[in-house]
Amino acid sequence: MSRGKVRSVTEVCADCSASDPTWASINRGIFICDECCSVHRSLGRHISQVKSITKGQWSTTLLAMVQHLASHGANSIWEHSLLDPSQSKHGKKKPTPRDQVHPIKAEFIRSKYQFVQFINKQKDGEVNSIDDLSKQLHSCVRTNNLETCLRLLSKGADPNYFHPEKGNCPLHVAAQSGQPLQGELLVIYGADPGAYDANGKTPIDHARTEGHKDLADRLIECQYELTDRLAYYLCKRKPDHRNGCHFIIPEMADNTLDMSELAKQAKKKLQALPNHLFEELAMDVYDEVDRRENDEHWTAAHENASIVSDRQGVPFLPLNPDFSATRNQGRQKLARFNGREFATLVIDILNDAKRRQTGVMSPVQTPKGKQSYNNFFPIL
Ligand SMILES: [Zn+2]
Repeated sequence: MSRGKVRSVTEVCADCSASDPTWASINRGIFICDECCSVHRSLGRHISQVKSITKGQWSTTLLAMVQHLASHGANSIWEHSLLDPSQSKHGKKKPTPRDQVHPIKAEFIRSKYQFVQFINKQKDGEVNSIDDLSKQLHSCVRTNNLETCLRLLSKGADPNYFHPEKGNCPLHVAAQSGQPLQGELLVIYGADPGAYDANGKTPIDHARTEGHKDLADRLIECQYELTDRLAYYLCKRKPDHRNGCHFIIPEMADNTLDMSELAKQAKKKLQALPNHLFEELAMDVYDEVDRRENDEHWTAAHENASIVSDRQGVPFLPLNPDFSATRNQGRQKLARFNGREFATLVIDILNDAKRRQTGVMSPVQTPKGKQSYNNFFPIL
């Protein structure tokens, strides 16, 4: 999509009001400036999923979703209490573009997203149980009211809520109703495009039956988001899902994949990982691909800058408190791989994902037990 179209709805940074923001936080539905983006990145993808508006690889509907949210007041969800001075007891104020990144902008951004200090925490009656919120979400996704759905998700509504009376999940409803942007939002928050309803049908089936072909195709793409992103990182191509091709396995440019004894052993260990640990490793590699790509986009934007502060870089994956210490260590070690070693790991993972044919590996992470792949497949 052209830069012009993007700019028409992205007037200022959602955090500091600087003009012409060039990054988006997808799960927050906002646009942000370079400086604020550096803080978002340092918090990790579990807090904010950032992507360059101009350099990132976007699906049309995902970008449309962020634009819709940004232009329909998604930011007021995250700044609810700041908008009402009578409620504001903490005395926090929004930074201005000229404030320093550290500590002023950084502290504000942490309060706003990591500690969600400014969202509306008032409970009105009984509507705040997770069940009630999820039922509201289930009903709301048939409309195009994205910002209400984001508000419900921000309060803890379950994107995979199985409605006991209706026998399906919010994504089935969005797919049936032909709501592609709701579909994007639900998937970003972890909804499973392959989930079955009470009749054994997936959201993809429903989109097809109702004649929403583009939505069905997009949901299939979402199912393969993880492996598609890994392949795209290496070869700038994606598989043609419409024609039944679901995996691309890139080759090393010089065709000299490491066939040493050590490399063979590593492959064997990878193949021996139980599925859930393999998925964890693949998700962590996905996060590392995201970090490396955003780093490239960041550096490209600052080529002419004389000084880029060290504090604006993200040298390895930030700590995710939902994960075990061992897994966090494994995640951080991924940054030590040089380009060639990392490409080899990505290719091994793509090969093994295809072999396992799991396909459905949402990059949205859920902590799973105390075991970690590092116990079986030591990284470095
Ligand atoms: Zn900003």
